[in-house]
Amino acid sequence: MGEGSRPRRGIEPSPARGRGALVVIALAVAAAVVVLAQLRPADQPVVAPAPTRPPSPSAEPWKLPAVDWEPLPQPDPASPLFAAQSAAINAVAPAMLTGCPAPRIVADADEWRAAVEAQWRCVHAAWRPVLAEFRLSTREPVVHFFTGEGADSDCGHVDAPAFYCAVGSGSVYFGDGHLAQARAWDLAVNEMVNHEYGHHLQALFGITANRLVAPGGLQLERRSELQAMCWSAAMTRGNDAVAFGQAAYDGWVARLDRMREDASHGTRASLRYWGTRGLYAETMGDCNTWVVGAAHVR
Ligand SMILES: [Zn+2]
Repeated sequence: MGEGSRPRRGIEPSPARGRGALVVIALAVAAAVVVLAQLRPADQPVVAPAPTRPPSPSAEPWKLPAVDWEPLPQPDPASPLFAAQSAAINAVAPAMLTGCPAPRIVADADEWRAAVEAQWRCVHAAWRPVLAEFRLSTREPVVHFFTGEGADSDCGHVDAPAFYCAVGSGSVYFGDGHLAQARAWDLAVNEMVNHEYGHHLQALFGITANRLVAPGGLQLERRSELQAMCWSAAMTRGNDAVAFGQAAYDGWVARLDRMREDASHGTRASLRYWGTRGLYAETMGDCNTWVVGAAHVR
């Protein structure tokens, strides 16, 4: 863990996209200078190239509001949750999602299923190299869809908008409750798929196994849910299909404010804390809900 668990402080650095644009501009200017030099008749004075200007303030990339996140405690070898606290994934940077579906409100169930499957494939492709590096299964969990409130699975019958079952190489289920969300919010597919994939990561990295044998009941359920939500935020921030600006940020916070709060998922304060903290995560360990005191996972 060590540095791996340090939270991002203050405003995050601007994305590499900005530098890429500068490089392109610089190359374009250089090319123009070469062309001008070739066109210039020998008897004319050399025209100095126009100096490259720094980007104007309006061209600056949007930044997350500055937050001084408190550092998380170190794992405690005496804790029954030590395996979850010290999971190897904590040192890993959130996988950058590339080529995922552009977020949009779905019009019908067909669009929704296609978007969910594409997002799932995309998230799995992003994590596959990490899983291979840690010699974990790279098999893609099967995606199921259901109508109504719940579905039968290898984990029994579960009522939820969506859920993950860790039996075998994992499977994930999306139902009408999630379809309703996807009809109303453009980031709903991104958010829920990332969240459920977070549960898959918990299973692969031994966090789920630790949770199932440790004492703690619903508090452990909340640690698991809040970690998955925080990871979903971290992956959303690293999703190049999401133009993460003020509107997306406001939409994300609004979602945290209407998300169901209950004994399994946490209070509004906990949902807001982890759901926002994940946006700032530099490592998956910045979402380590297993090391904090009970007050942070109420
Ligand atoms: Zn969950």
